[in-house]
Amino acid sequence: MARRKATQPIQEFPLIRQLQHRHERRSPLIRKGIGDDAAVVSIPAGDWVVLTTDLLTEGVHFDLRTASPMSVGYRAAMANLSDVAAMGATPRFLLVSIAIPPTLRAADVHALYRGLMSACDRHEVRLIGGDTSASHQGLFLSITLLGTTARGHALFRKGARVGDGIYVTGTLGDSLAGLQLLTNRRAPRRGTALTMIDRDFLINRHRHPTARVREGLWLNQAQLAAAAIDLSDGLSGDLRHLCEASRVGADIELSRLPISPACQAYANRQKIDPSTLALAGGEDYELLFTVAPRNERTLERQARARRFQVTKIGTIRPRRFGLHSLTCNGTRVPLPITSYRHFT
Ligand code: ADP
Ligand code: MG
Repeated sequence: MARRKATQPIQEFPLIRQLQHRHERRSPLIRKGIGDDAAVVSIPAGDWVVLTTDLLTEGVHFDLRTASPMSVGYRAAMANLSDVAAMGATPRFLLVSIAIPPTLRAADVHALYRGLMSACDRHEVRLIGGDTSASHQGLFLSITLLGTTARGHALFRKGARVGDGIYVTGTLGDSLAGLQLLTNRRAPRRGTALTMIDRDFLINRHRHPTARVREGLWLNQAQLAAAAIDLSDGLSGDLRHLCEASRVGADIELSRLPISPACQAYANRQKIDPSTLALAGGEDYELLFTVAPRNERTLERQARARRFQVTKIGTIRPRRFGLHSLTCNGTRVPLPITSYRHFT
C-alpha cells in the first residue's frame, strides 16, 4: 500500500495548498499561518514559550510496512504533545516538515496529516507551517510544537527532593504489550488466550496513546508536582533521567505499579511479571512526577475530584541510595537499565 510506486510525482505547491485547505484553522492568536515566509503568532504577555521538536526517520522510528501513514502521524504528534504536557504547558502551534520519498503517494501524505491533526485537534493545537522536500530514500518527518505557560510556572525534571512521593498517571506497560501482540505471531497457548476486548485495548494503547495534557496543566497550575517527565522510554529509563536531573535516588515498589487488567491478563498468558512490561515499556506517554509529602493528600483528593488516575509507586531517596525497586517478595534490587538507545 504505502510502499507502492507512485503513479504521479507529488508536486510541492499544490500539496501545500491542499494541506492548508484541509488543516488550517483560525485562531485569534495567529497573525499569519501558512502562506508567508514565516508564521506570526501572538503570545499572551509575559507567558513563557515552551518548544519541542522531534525528527522521525523511516526505518529507525517507524516502519511503513507495518504502520499506516495515519498512525505514524498520530504518534508523532502525540509524542510532542506529551513533551509539552510534561512541562505543564498548554500546547498551541505546530510546524511540520516532511521529506517525501518517490514511493509515497499523495494519499499517504494526506493520511499522515490526518493522523497528525486528529491528535492535535482534541487539544486545539493549530498547524501554522512547515517545509516540504523530496527524499531520495525513506520518509523523514519533523514535528515542532510550541506551547505556552504562565511566567515562572513550568514542570522540570529537576526539582525532586528526598522524601517526595513518586507518582504516575494512568497504567503502565500497555503500549509494549500492544506492540508485542502486533509483532509476535506466536499462537496463544490453549486456554490462556486473551479476550478480544483486552487485545483491542492493548493494541489501541499502542496505536493511539493519549498525551496527558490536562493532567500536566493541573499539576503545574495547582503547584502540586516538584518535578515531572513523560514516559516515552519506559519507567526505568525515564525515572533515571528525572533522578539525574534532580540529583537524587529512588525506591520503587513493584507491587504498586498501576497495571491494567488487560496488561495483567497478557502478562499471565506470557508467564511474565507485568512489572517488567511497565519498567521497560516505552511509549506509554503517561506522566511521572514527584510530590512533596505535605502535598500528597491534596494531590490525591484533587485527582479523585477530577477523575484523573494517579498512583504512588515509590519514594525519592538520597542520591547515594541509587535507583532500586522493591520486588513483590520483599527483596530490593537495582532498577534495570532498559531504555531504548538509538546510537548503541
Ligand atoms: P519557503 O520557500 O520559505 O520555505 P515554502 O514554499 O516552503 O516557503 O512554504 C510556503 C508556506 O507553506 C509557508 O507558510 C510554510 O510554512 C508552509 N508549508 C510548507 N510546507 C509545509 C508542510 N509540509 N506543512 C505545513 N505547512 C507547510
Ligand atoms: Mg520551504
